Formats: sequence, structure tokens, C-alpha cells
Amino acid sequence: MTDHVEVRCVVCPQLHSRAPRHYERAQVCEPCRARLAQTLTDIGRGHGDLPQHLERGAGFGQYVRGGEVEAPLPFREDVWDLLLPVRPTPNVVGLDDLLCQIGHVSVATLLDSWIRDWCHLRGKSERGRPGYVSAMVVWLGNRLEWACDHHPAVDEFASEINGLWSVMRRYVGVDEPRPTPCRGVPCRRCDLKTLARLADGSGDVECQNAACRTVYRADEYTRWVRLVAAAVSGG
Ligand SMILES: [Zn+2]
Ligand SMILES: [Zn+2]
Repeated sequence: MTDHVEVRCVVCPQLHSRAPRHYERAQVCEPCRARLAQTLTDIGRGHGDLPQHLERGAGFGQYVRGGEVEAPLPFREDVWDLLLPVRPTPNVVGLDDLLCQIGHVSVATLLDSWIRDWCHLRGKSERGRPGYVSAMVVWLGNRLEWACDHHPAVDEFASEINGLWSVMRRYVGVDEPRPTPCRGVPCRRCDLKTLARLADGSGDVECQNAACRTVYRADEYTRWVRLVAAAVSGG
């Protein structure tokens, strides 16, 4: 662990250290990679759930003003916007611009604009861009490591993907408790600092690296932290 190098993540402000075998990896820290992968999955699942939220139901607190319920429109046009198919955009337009102009940019339009951008940058003449959101998130997810290593604007991608999910989760977000990252402690198996305490109350810690997923029982984790701390202070 003494050969780690400190680099700054372009997505979050964290300094993170990279293991020697990851020298070639730049830009994005492991927790951000894991979070982006999760957010893409959330967007895919959320998009599938959106149609259930098209109709305005009773019980939306925000429509009650001064004790009167506003006459609702038959459906939620903001959800409708999100569900629209890919609309050609003249240039790659930022999420913020689109939000100002036309309500919400559709999920498919935003994802497709990044898929076109990645295709262009990768220069591998990848054909057959996916037409469905469920396939788009998989396409992007499969190339996420590449983007985190090499895409010059991966910070912009992260901010748009996070922005999109924060819009979507107003409708479909089930606030599932997320694991809390354990900062600065490397996984004993994969050596990445991707450990997180599970939100299930068990106190267990799990490596969030999808290729590892080692689980530490609470006491086992405490012993591991002591070992790491001893190794660090002992040089
Ligand atoms: Zn980061
Ligand atoms: Zn691990």
C-alpha cells in the first residue's frame, strides 16, 4: 500500500489513492464509479416505473394550497416529457438548457446524446445504438470504466446523469437507504477503498466493487481496521 499515488477525482472533490496496478486509471475514484453504475441502474429501473406516475393522483401534497385542492390536469406533463422517445438535438445541449426550454428533456434523449458522444470519441464505429432506455443504460454501464478512465468530459456526464436521476426520483424515487462509505480503508481482497457499511442495521461492511463484493461481519471489520491502522503507523 506504500506505492499508492494520490489523485483528485474529477467527479467528487475527494483525493483518492490508486494501487500501483491501477496507475493507468485516471480521473474518477472508485466510489464515484460505483455510484455512477448504480445511478444508471436506478435510471433504467425508474424509467420502467414512470408510466405508473403519469396520472395525477389525489394525495400529492404540493397541489394543496390554502386548504383547496387545485383542479388537476389529467396527466402529469412533466412525467410525459421524461418518457418521450429520443428527440434529435441540434447540438449536445446541456440538461439545464433543456430544462429551461422544454420542461424535462426525455430520459432517452439525454442518454442517447451521451451514447452518440461516446461512440464518436471511442472511434470504434460501434453500430446499432440501442433504442430503448433499458438497453441504453446497459450500453453506457458496459463502457463506464472506459469513460471514467478516458472520457475528457466524464465530470459533465456524471453531473447530467445525477441531475436526471434527481429529477426522476421525485416521481419514482424510493428512498432506499444506501450503504455509508467507509473512508480510507482498503478492501483486503481487492485493495480498493470501496468499503461501505450496509444500511440494514447489521453493522456489516461490504465492498462496493462489483467484481469483489466481499462482506465483513462487524467485528471482523473492526479487526481489519486495526490491522490497517497498525500497518500504516508502522510504516
Ligand atoms: Zn469521486
Ligand atoms: Zn473488495
